[in-house]
Amino acid sequence: MRFFFPDSQDQVDPMFDFVTEEHPVHRIRQRDDRYAHEVLQHRPFDGLLISKSIVDGHGARTSARYTAGARNRLYRERARRFFRLDEVHRDVLIMGDCGAFTYFNEEEPPYSVAEVLDFYEYCGLDWGVAPDHIVFGFVRDGDPIPDEMISEWERRLDITLNNARLFLDEVSRRNCDIVPIGVAHGWSADSYAQSVSDLQDLGYVKIAMGGMVPLRSNDIVSSLEASSGVRKPETELHLLGITRVDEMRRFAQHGVTSFDSTSPFRQAFKDDTDNYYTLDSTYVAIKVPQVDGNASLKRQIKAGKVDQRAAILAERSCLEGLRAYDAGELPVEQALQRVLDYEDLVGVKKTREAEYLRTLSARPWKDCGCGICEEAGIEVIMFRGSERNKRRGFHNLAVFRDRISRNGFHSLQTTGEHT
Ligand SMILES: [Zn+2]
Repeated sequence: MRFFFPDSQDQVDPMFDFVTEEHPVHRIRQRDDRYAHEVLQHRPFDGLLISKSIVDGHGARTSARYTAGARNRLYRERARRFFRLDEVHRDVLIMGDCGAFTYFNEEEPPYSVAEVLDFYEYCGLDWGVAPDHIVFGFVRDGDPIPDEMISEWERRLDITLNNARLFLDEVSRRNCDIVPIGVAHGWSADSYAQSVSDLQDLGYVKIAMGGMVPLRSNDIVSSLEASSGVRKPETELHLLGITRVDEMRRFAQHGVTSFDSTSPFRQAFKDDTDNYYTLDSTYVAIKVPQVDGNASLKRQIKAGKVDQRAAILAERSCLEGLRAYDAGELPVEQALQRVLDYEDLVGVKKTREAEYLRTLSARPWKDCGCGICEEAGIEVIMFRGSERNKRRGFHNLAVFRDRISRNGFHSLQTTGEHT
């Protein structure tokens, strides 16, 4: 089972100073900042997924996460060198897609088949996904199919299948060595199976299952089961955007050999509670907002509701308290109290006192050998600024890798590890 990590240019600065909150004066992001595979003890993924919409963006609401400079460098150096996977991590597979979720509410995919293949070729990718259009909706066996939706769903399937045909033609016309992947969409187990069958008829041996993110695990399994009825022995399936490690064994029984997901990383700073992973559990991160970096706090200070000096003192006391607790110099109750005092001052509506106590008492970062936690210590559990939040995200990726291995999937390569 291969795990692909979708890139959105997330890096950390290894020289960032947690106490002064400053980067080195001579920092050059592109040279000095590091990707997950460069700071973790073991590389957490088998492959990277690069989306055209993340690199290039499209339309007025651009989804691009690349600066023009980074984009040009990606094209010039090609992905393997750009991500510094050309020396120790040469076995990493690099896969491209269009990021169909960024244009799901548009009439048609914004990119032509030729443009998409240009992008894959410029980046020098190993695998390339044909441009698809997501079908949103799922009808279980026996449920009525809503008339008002069916024509739109069929239209999207037609676009996807037609693009898949054109994509395959274009790959062979250009004679490029990108492994083409067709995307199966559907609104039911049977329609997913039909898509798989149609793509196989076109000649695809790698098929990505799309639009399954909102589906319940049982619906995914029923669709995979139905597809098993038509799937050829050589056909390999990829699950787009699906994590669900506990279900991987069931997925694998139906031909799934790879998947991708950003959740382990994003939960570090997007989730309400599950911010820090351990092998068997998750912990909430401790929010310590930056007085001079938090928009709502700034507003309150400007409006005279919060005294700026008091806020700065409480913030400092909170940070020092947490560090003293980590060093064994302050009891947990007192460190927690400083967090709560700071919360009071900035007007946090819903305190997480009990969850914070659980996190602090367990000190999960003390037992972690991911390569981040040993160095960052308690800073990794603070919900504060991108340098800490991304480190926690990288840590989660490392734990996620271990969760995959524990579930019996050992395909993650161990070459290229840091020594
Ligand atoms: Zn860790």
